[in-house]
Amino acid sequence: MSYMAGCYPGLAGKRCKGHGRAEWVFPALPAFYRETLQNGENMYKSFLIKYAEIGVKGKNRYLFEEALVKQIKYALKKAEGEFAVRRTDGRIYVDALSDFDYEETVESLKKVFGISGICPVVYVRDEGFEKLGHDVVRYIGDVYPDRNKSFKVSARRARKNYPLNSMEINVELGAVILDAYPEMRVDVHKPDILLNVEVRDNIYLYSEIIPGPGGMPVGTGGKAMLLLSGGIDSPVAGWMIAKRGVKIDAVYFHAPPYTSERAKQKVVDLAKKVAAYAGPVWLHVINFTDIQLYIYDKCPHDELTIIMRRYMMRIAEHIAKETECLGLITGESIGQVASQTMASLAATNEVCTLPVYRPLIGFDKMEIVEIAEKIDSYETSILPYEDCCTIFVAKHPVTKPNVNVIKRHEENLHEGIEELVAKALETDEVIVVHD
Ligand code: ATP
Ligand code: MG
Repeated sequence: MSYMAGCYPGLAGKRCKGHGRAEWVFPALPAFYRETLQNGENMYKSFLIKYAEIGVKGKNRYLFEEALVKQIKYALKKAEGEFAVRRTDGRIYVDALSDFDYEETVESLKKVFGISGICPVVYVRDEGFEKLGHDVVRYIGDVYPDRNKSFKVSARRARKNYPLNSMEINVELGAVILDAYPEMRVDVHKPDILLNVEVRDNIYLYSEIIPGPGGMPVGTGGKAMLLLSGGIDSPVAGWMIAKRGVKIDAVYFHAPPYTSERAKQKVVDLAKKVAAYAGPVWLHVINFTDIQLYIYDKCPHDELTIIMRRYMMRIAEHIAKETECLGLITGESIGQVASQTMASLAATNEVCTLPVYRPLIGFDKMEIVEIAEKIDSYETSILPYEDCCTIFVAKHPVTKPNVNVIKRHEENLHEGIEELVAKALETDEVIVVHD
């Protein structure tokens, strides 16, 4: 839907109590915006992008901003409309160049790591202070139908030849607003509305901040290989590491005919959920059946899962190294299942030389589910398709494996395992997964 169709959601918002952070809800676009956007020369539709200061200092700042602009452009491809993304005065702006779908645009921007806030901005032409006063009154009137609120004007005079300084703009505009809306009151400490007025080439007005996902832009942190299964945990783990700016590749071990095409499709769908935030994910699908059967045949059944996990890690690491990944990512969390006790994790970890990132290590299932719901992977994860780990699972798996014992039992595999691993690597099917 585009605002031309009359359903452009506006800036008027009410605050909802979310998870400790302000969330904004946007009802219908005020008539004023519709008019000026449709007719106006001096009103445009834009967003000021706020990003966290962390990591953007010094010589990294340029790289951070470049990566952020690239990710914003990529994300906006999914939204209806044409946009320009520009970096000016240490700020990033998104300007709509055509009709656009406001909600879709905001939704896309909310998936760009590195963005801490999305501020819908109105540009006003500088036609004197009196005109600015009118514009501001109109802005407040339209954006805040309920004006029983406190406010503060925060002016920034980036263009120094403007006749009033920042302090004077604050005071004068404050007086104009109070004149127009006597029910409003000034509160300089905790205002309900913080009206930002930035005097640049044009004058920018904004007062709403839609929270972004935070984190660092993808691409600023290298690349890592996610072991992606069909469960709840691994997509969340991938999302969390991507949030730190890391590009994600993934590997999925499937075991046909014990696992179905549908189970594989589910993993592709989960990779899509990660790709919505992390950009295209190169998903390696490895046929693991023969290795699994061989382990089943040769090793004690209570150690199956651990030995199988060790082979998954070995193969994942091999692909990771070939594709310039700097680490592995899993969805493991201490104590969740037998293969995730401290002793089991130590046994699994022992085969890796690359760092293994386990961002969920201290999370309870409830906390993981909360994130899975937020990133929209939960509903897919709980689809009931079989997983290759559960098929060969022992009734009483070891919970305190001893690495030396495990290694000794792995020697039972010496005859055929190398060839099977090489063959499994040959089955590598790469699916480039886009959102
Ligand atoms: P998840 O909910 O992430 O599927 P899980 O609860 O099924 O995990 P395990 O089976 O012990 O737990 O797997 C632990 C981790 O090992 C997973 O989070 C994932 O990173 C990796 N993993 C497990 N099975 C596979 C698989 N078939 N392909 C790729 N990675 C896997
Ligand atoms: Mg798990």
